Amino acid sequence: MKKFRGVYIKNENEIAKMRIANGMVSRVLDALGEAVKPGISTMFLEDIAQEMCRKMKVRPAFQGYCGFPFALCCSVNETIVHGFPSKDRILKEGDIVSCDMGVCYEGFYGDSARTFFVGEVSEEAKKLCKVTEECLHNGIAAATIGNSLYDISAAVQRHAEKNGYHVIRNFVGHGIGASLHEKPEVPNFVPMGGNNIPLQEGMALAIEPMLAVGTYEVTILPDKWTANTKDGSLAGHFEHSIVITSDGPEILSLSSNYTGTC
Ligand code: MG
Ligand code: MG
Repeated sequence: MKKFRGVYIKNENEIAKMRIANGMVSRVLDALGEAVKPGISTMFLEDIAQEMCRKMKVRPAFQGYCGFPFALCCSVNETIVHGFPSKDRILKEGDIVSCDMGVCYEGFYGDSARTFFVGEVSEEAKKLCKVTEECLHNGIAAATIGNSLYDISAAVQRHAEKNGYHVIRNFVGHGIGASLHEKPEVPNFVPMGGNNIPLQEGMALAIEPMLAVGTYEVTILPDKWTANTKDGSLAGHFEHSIVITSDGPEILSLSSNYTGTC
């Protein structure tokens, strides 16, 4: 596979597989969005994701990845990412829940996340999710030939901070393709002295802003996965897998059934 500065460049055939993988992921997320309501457990969402993967004859990407036990990351309220689905975690009115899903189809990965509202949520939760989703789309809009990697990061960070939110620094977006996580890292902030690279046609990236209302500091729970905001403030998370084309970024995980948070 061709590389540019250590980043794999995908050909049409590989992009076609990623389109299918991400299409499957977005169908799962559509179904989860329909299912989210007060009174269900987050394990119910895991069950839906597992059942859909079985029906689509595709492998969930996260289960077994570095020992992660589930198909779905279900992150409620102050949990930023990597929350475990649980039959004991019952969603209640006013919660927000980020569902992060990946599959592997014919050796190529899809990865996407959305944060859903459970019933009526606070104005703060609505604004956080709206701004996080806007950050994602601003980041994607910056993923063009002629721009560099950190133009994506800057677009995300600028919009988050303009709205008084903090971008999480412990976790970043990533290249995606024949591996779930590939080079380059796609931070949601401009790192000091990082490895900036000019964006090239055929680069595939998972862009995933994670924003918190309060501090960007993170606490990892004893399960070694669940990542919470240290101050317990709300966190939002949205993710798309994209590929850079000569016509601009193509969002591989776009769903025509999903119109956005607000
Ligand atoms: Mg993801
Ligand atoms: Mg990801």
